[in-house]
Amino acid sequence: MPSIKLNSGYDMPAVGFGCWKVDVDTCSEQIYRAIKTGYRLFDGAEDYANEKLVGAGVKKAIDEGIVKREDLFLTSKLWNNYHHPDNVEKALNRTLSDLQVDYVDLFLIHFPVTFKFVPLEEKYPPGFYCGKGDNFDYEDVPILETWKALEKLVKAGKIRSIGVSNFPGALLLDLLRGATIKPSVLQVEHHPYLQQPRLIEFAQSRGIAVTAYSSFGPQSFVELNQGRALNTSPLFENETIKAIAAKHGKSPAQVLLRWSSQRGIAIIPKSNTVPRLLENKDVNSFDLDEQDFADIAKLDINLRFNDPWDWDKIPIFV
Ligand code: NAD
Repeated sequence: MPSIKLNSGYDMPAVGFGCWKVDVDTCSEQIYRAIKTGYRLFDGAEDYANEKLVGAGVKKAIDEGIVKREDLFLTSKLWNNYHHPDNVEKALNRTLSDLQVDYVDLFLIHFPVTFKFVPLEEKYPPGFYCGKGDNFDYEDVPILETWKALEKLVKAGKIRSIGVSNFPGALLLDLLRGATIKPSVLQVEHHPYLQQPRLIEFAQSRGIAVTAYSSFGPQSFVELNQGRALNTSPLFENETIKAIAAKHGKSPAQVLLRWSSQRGIAIIPKSNTVPRLLENKDVNSFDLDEQDFADIAKLDINLRFNDPWDWDKIPIFV
């Protein structure tokens, strides 16, 4: 499995398994099966409400001697209700206990959005619950304060690398001005309909590794019945993608993944079946050519599916 060297000194597998919306009834089995299939990076989050199940799958594989803890790269994400420095460690401790590990390899600030703290005993994970029924409520915590709390947890040995997710360029720039430990990873929505070339160029030029999520564009959001995704032509059926796939004898999914991986961007597709797990992992066995990249560049329509504007008109991407 190829890897990407992070600025923290650790190696991050270039292909991982995304844990969002993994069926809870089969989650631990799927994680276990993915490990047996050769996956080593698991991209999870507190908000995915399945870290205990991910931890059970990991434990089974470790107990059976298939892998050691140090062979795995476990990512989790700090949810929006826990940004206050008093609460960051509480949330991380819950993640560590759910995953049954004593450190995570990568911990990301999930969104640059700070909801009001909700005690873990009251609701975990809180999702969009901020303590008052369906109403959103916020806390004024500058990102740098959350970041400083994460830096302490790196020093305490509970996190190996820290990073951010869903950050636009200006916030990343601001974070770099104050961070003692630089972010290792920027995880963003990235597919041919939302290419964000300047953000990616900036991050990579500063030594921040980029991870693409929702590489298949609308596919993941169709599962949520999102109107925007339902009204968007699937990337798997796009004529440009299909023609490139036919040219290389690969699937459209593999073209979409290779489009990122060939530019040094990590990928974390989510899949429930072994044939797709294998298909998604086997994306570094061919190269797209210059013409393929030029043709895919034309598909960019700046169409974002995961946007906090949809939650409560939170303008992080406007
Ligand atoms: P994805 O782009 O990986 O798409 C998943 C969908 O594609 C599923 O319906 C799956 O069945 C299908 N699929 C998978 N492999 C396929 C193949 N080879 N051929 C055809 N269909 C295939 O979507 P995603 O889950 O949104 O993103 C991947 C991961 O990224 C998530 O699981 C999560 O870990 C992470 N993520 C992070 C954030 C964030 O805010 N940081 C947001 C969304 C996702």
